[in-house]
Amino acid sequence: MDSAIANNQRFNQGDSAYLFEKYWSNDETGRRKKLFPFLWSTVQAHGQLYGNRAFGNKVNNANPYWFSYPGYSEIMTGYADTTVNSNDFPPNPNTNVLEFLNRQSKFKGRVTAFGAWEAFDRILNEQRSGFRVTSAFDKSGGNHPTAQQQLINSMLLDSYKPWHEDECLDVFTHYAAMEELKAKKPKVLYIAYGETDEWAHSGQYRNYLNAAHQVDAWIKQIWDYVQSQPQYKNKTALFITTDHGRGDAVKEEWTSHGNSIKDAYEIWFAVLSPAITSKGEMKTEMQLYQKQFAQTIAKLLGYTFKADHPVAEEIGPVFK
Ligand SMILES: [Zn+2]
Repeated sequence: MDSAIANNQRFNQGDSAYLFEKYWSNDETGRRKKLFPFLWSTVQAHGQLYGNRAFGNKVNNANPYWFSYPGYSEIMTGYADTTVNSNDFPPNPNTNVLEFLNRQSKFKGRVTAFGAWEAFDRILNEQRSGFRVTSAFDKSGGNHPTAQQQLINSMLLDSYKPWHEDECLDVFTHYAAMEELKAKKPKVLYIAYGETDEWAHSGQYRNYLNAAHQVDAWIKQIWDYVQSQPQYKNKTALFITTDHGRGDAVKEEWTSHGNSIKDAYEIWFAVLSPAITSKGEMKTEMQLYQKQFAQTIAKLLGYTFKADHPVAEEIGPVFK
């Protein structure tokens, strides 16, 4: 939480007392823990967190655009393709790591993706990729939805649609993904939440922080579930990241991103996996890139991601 933004009447939705009560602490480690209690407890204790630039630990977009489609494409394809330059870009010509994993015999038909934003059908090229992408107002459960999926689908259809048909509220994406996890036990599950970006664009700092806080709680819920199931327990990795940053050089600019916003290429990621050493927050100098995530994900699962385009190498320090 940034007190300058919380105190600004343009952004605090008339609710600065609530923001200070809920998220403020005088020291920054206390603040970040109030906002993201799971990241700064379980992930800090058992995983690795990258991107604190105060220690010279840098994670950047490699693509020059710093907005969503190019960012998600870079994460998933391991390639910063400069021709992928619009949120309206057609189906992605580049192979993504989920598609690659779905081609491996061990994972065939056991890979699935959920995204609050409609663009994931194109970013992951659902038509070509061979796995289901449930995005925005798509129904979950296919032709034989469970009772839970039927309820989620009905509520999604009748829900408040602040972003029209482009994006649903994260709660639907999360519950649909959790039900898939419980009902179908996928081996690879991708979930893309979207609310923080939308609330930021409309300058609503209370909604922005609450959406971020809620995602942390959902990540905990996912982790608690997998650690309660014998088929997942102690052999499942969580990889958590973001498509772009929002900079913090100019306080008024937090609502936006893209290459006109200073430092909006600054991102972070965290990993929780029995296959890695517990290191917590990384405090050594390094320069990492978003394009390295795809190969890192493949290596966590024991594969080397190969595609027709160049694939950036995995993040070595994760495995050391
Ligand atoms: Zn945005």
